[in-house]
Amino acid sequence: MVNVLINGYGSIGKRVADAVSMQDDMKVVGVTKTKPDFEARLAVEKGYKLFVAIPDKERVKMFEDAGIPVEGTILDIIEDVDIVVDGAPKKIGKQNLENIYKPHKVKAILQGGEKAKDVEDNFNALWSYDRCYGKDYVRVVSCNTTGLCRILYAINSVADIKKARVVLVRRAADPNDDKRGPVNAIVPNPVTVPSHHGPDVVSVVPEFEGKIVTSAVIVPTTLMHQHTLMVEVENNVSRDEVLESIEKTPRIIAVKYEDGFTSTAQIIEYGRDLGRLRYDINELVVWEESVNVVDNEIFLMQAVHQESIVIPENIDCIRAMLQLEEDKFKSIEKTNKAMGIK
Ligand code: NAP
Repeated sequence: MVNVLINGYGSIGKRVADAVSMQDDMKVVGVTKTKPDFEARLAVEKGYKLFVAIPDKERVKMFEDAGIPVEGTILDIIEDVDIVVDGAPKKIGKQNLENIYKPHKVKAILQGGEKAKDVEDNFNALWSYDRCYGKDYVRVVSCNTTGLCRILYAINSVADIKKARVVLVRRAADPNDDKRGPVNAIVPNPVTVPSHHGPDVVSVVPEFEGKIVTSAVIVPTTLMHQHTLMVEVENNVSRDEVLESIEKTPRIIAVKYEDGFTSTAQIIEYGRDLGRLRYDINELVVWEESVNVVDNEIFLMQAVHQESIVIPENIDCIRAMLQLEEDKFKSIEKTNKAMGIK
């Protein structure tokens, strides 16, 4: 059992903590918070050892005053861990890397809010597991990039990709976020085309350099992102071959519009009906009817549950970096089985 510390127990961090707890080759030795709020209290009630993320006496006192027991600060546990999964907000992960993880020589996984250039490599289980094997500082790419990497893996398995064009419709905020918008508008974000999402895929799959162009807007929804892909390929491929490859690729599910999956709302309802923890849909979801091939160009639409798609990737990334399993497909299978992923 390797020791994992979750530094930043928010949307991503709490899910990674629960996913680590479901595995038989790793355990959570602690989680951190900066604020003594209900999430901190619940973490303790769940049995996680709680540490204060910012090493300062005043912060520790805030937790004591709120009656939330803490074991100390991050500096009291950092030397005892095999790896840290950083779940801190965008840009703080890099600060933690430079100020805490590197000086203490602890392996660390950063999340998609950080920059590709600030780590040794960029992780997606299907594409870069082998490359990240044994590395010290790796970023699990964002939810959008993870979704694109999975579908491009499925397409790449049956066709040589010439050019992928993607339009991303992004959720405005996570459900727990009462600060961000828009509430009633469609916002080109970024307004420049191409957007940064293409280069982010290239950070995982360098051979896609010059082959992927993305643009993105933000819309008033909290549930999921939606992508429309147009992928030109070099060879003839049939719709059935594409669908079969999607079926075979781990962590992708195809759903039918005619079965009632008429929007992201129904996909989330499916997660609720399955009794998934926090109604998470860790799989990339492709609408079967949207898959079509016209003149060597593949078209499809997919949905990404932003809060949970990267969670199994974090688990496989731990296994790769700590060299717990050489074979990426064995790690993916192990993670999926433990988490109940289809
Ligand atoms: P979040 O919900 O805001 O959670 C951030 C957590 O970090 C909070 O628990 C916060 O603790 C803690 N924190 C604040 N300052 C910290 C520090 N200095 N050191 C350690 N922890 C600190 O954020 P998130 O959505 O989980 O995002 C985390 C990362 O995942 C970002 O890079 C983001 O881009 C990426 N990501 C997010 C999503 C998504 O849809 N949410 C999807 C994929 C990737 P307190 O609450 O106690 O202050």
